[in-house]
Amino acid sequence: MYEITVKKTFAAAHRLPDYKGRCAAVHGHTWTVEVSVAGVSLDENGMLIDFIQLKEMVTQITRDFDHQYLNDLKLADSVVTTHPTAENLARYIFKQLGKLLPPNLSLTKVKVWESADTAASYQEGV
Ligand SMILES: [Zn+2]
Repeated sequence: MYEITVKKTFAAAHRLPDYKGRCAAVHGHTWTVEVSVAGVSLDENGMLIDFIQLKEMVTQITRDFDHQYLNDLKLADSVVTTHPTAENLARYIFKQLGKLLPPNLSLTKVKVWESADTAASYQEGV
């Protein structure tokens, strides 16, 4: 099995309204979304999927977040905007990206970095 990983960053503000601490106030991050997909066969170019193509799929989802206040977004999964944590963003991106991937690939993990040393990931079937 092969696995490839791409990263995409976006800038956005959020606040965690029920959190007892500094993150209850509005603040921003440069978020990094790290996506890994796996599959068993390579295409005629020796690629699982072109990195550029996978990054474009991630961008399709994260462009709605870029330079936004996450708590104000209208998303199908309202938990994400009520509690816009790295964990909830990772799950939301995982679910959305799963709809875009070709059937020969499986999404193994979405990891959302809120800073250089803090991240949350979401995966299924583990
Ligand atoms: Zn934060």
